[in-house]
Amino acid sequence: MAKISVIGMGYVGLVTAACFADLGNEVWCVEMDGHKIELLQQNKAPFYEPGLEELIVRNASAGRLHFTVRYDEAVPGSDFVFICVGTPMAEDGAAELKYVRMAAESIGPNLRGYTIIVNKSTVPIGTGDMVTEILRHYADSSTFAVVSNPEFLREGSAVNDFFNPDRIVLGAGDRTAAEKVAELHAPLNAPVIITDLHTAEMIKYASNAFLATRISFINEIAHICERLGADVKEVARGMGMDRRIGPHFLNAGVGFGGSCFPKDVRALAYMAKAQDCHPQLLQAVLEINEDAQRRFVRKLLEMLGNLQGKTIGVLGLSFKPNTDDMREAPSIEIITRIHEMGAEVKAYDPVAMPRAEEILPWVTYCATPYDVAKGADALLVITEWNEFKQLNMERIRDLMREAVLLDGRNVYEPAEMRRLGFRYYGVGRP
Ligand code: NAD
Repeated sequence: MAKISVIGMGYVGLVTAACFADLGNEVWCVEMDGHKIELLQQNKAPFYEPGLEELIVRNASAGRLHFTVRYDEAVPGSDFVFICVGTPMAEDGAAELKYVRMAAESIGPNLRGYTIIVNKSTVPIGTGDMVTEILRHYADSSTFAVVSNPEFLREGSAVNDFFNPDRIVLGAGDRTAAEKVAELHAPLNAPVIITDLHTAEMIKYASNAFLATRISFINEIAHICERLGADVKEVARGMGMDRRIGPHFLNAGVGFGGSCFPKDVRALAYMAKAQDCHPQLLQAVLEINEDAQRRFVRKLLEMLGNLQGKTIGVLGLSFKPNTDDMREAPSIEIITRIHEMGAEVKAYDPVAMPRAEEILPWVTYCATPYDVAKGADALLVITEWNEFKQLNMERIRDLMREAVLLDGRNVYEPAEMRRLGFRYYGVGRP
């Protein structure tokens, strides 16, 4: 059993903390937002993530999980300190490192005994060195080591992803320290890659950029399919069966969002430019993604003529299903544009409405998808929640003023929707 401190109680930090506690470790959670800590002290998760609250309740009750705003209560005597703070996008596209710096500055004075500082935040190449430099002001280098351990969990299945990782990536100058972090992960039985700090940091950016590239690739193919009368869903299925390609991240639609892909692709492009590289592919990935959202709105305009005074229903607001995370969700851009064109917007999402309300306060939020459909001139599907696949589409059609359906995630079958009397549009489908 190890004593672990985790800094930053966001999606990554809280999942990491609760899961390590569940493996039997003593875990101290540090968060600068006092409100989040108050919620956690009442065993409540400050955001929606399937299975997380049960883990918090179980491990807090067993006395293995503690929450505090104070570093001096948690960090002294920790074997491992995980940095899981946000690295949002700065104005210029770079990753903002102020939270990582603040965390390192607060960890430093509280180091007692030998401690391994593990960075899980997605950080520009060289950040591990920066953290080491900061800590050297406070402690002798023989008393600590910095290890990069990029996180690959997916919101919506984060707990499951923690317990079943494809691989554990560890980067360090000090191999023994990396091996100690590997031992901590031994119960997960996952393959471990130990490499240097810079390479580990790069593995995270390259992985996210590649996944984003697949989405933009299939969206570009979708656009071409639309013009040439091919069905991108079948194209993706046919491609995905090729073992060299695989089926994942080939769903055409309104593009990627979330707190990771957009910012990480931009940050990688920024780093590349700073080194005089020309990141043409990364730029294209971002442009294609923005185009996917613009084209969707243009399609709506084409189908309705104009949006002035129209009522548009939206199903799905979070950036993907099974999360309430609204960061960079395509729904924000799409709804804002529609609103600017004079339409009223009604929307429903199973869990993201409270967060969406903070960003899009003028939207009318409804209790069910059927309430959204009532009197709508068009219905847009923006997030592919499972419950939208089970809707009674005849009832939806009858409730709408105009049976116009724009399926931004290709949830429905075009022929079936047309048979039901919808004017249907799916991305990249004939
Ligand atoms: P988040 O914004 O949800 O949470 C970060 C938390 O850290 C916030 O609660 C914030 O108040 C707290 N914080 C910031 N500075 C602090 C400090 N100095 N001391 C204490 N608390 C502090 O972020 P997230 O989504 O969990 O992401 C964290 C990092 O992990 C980012 O670098 C992100 O790119 C990366 N990542 C995220 C995901 C994901 O799916 N969300 C997946 C893999 C990697």
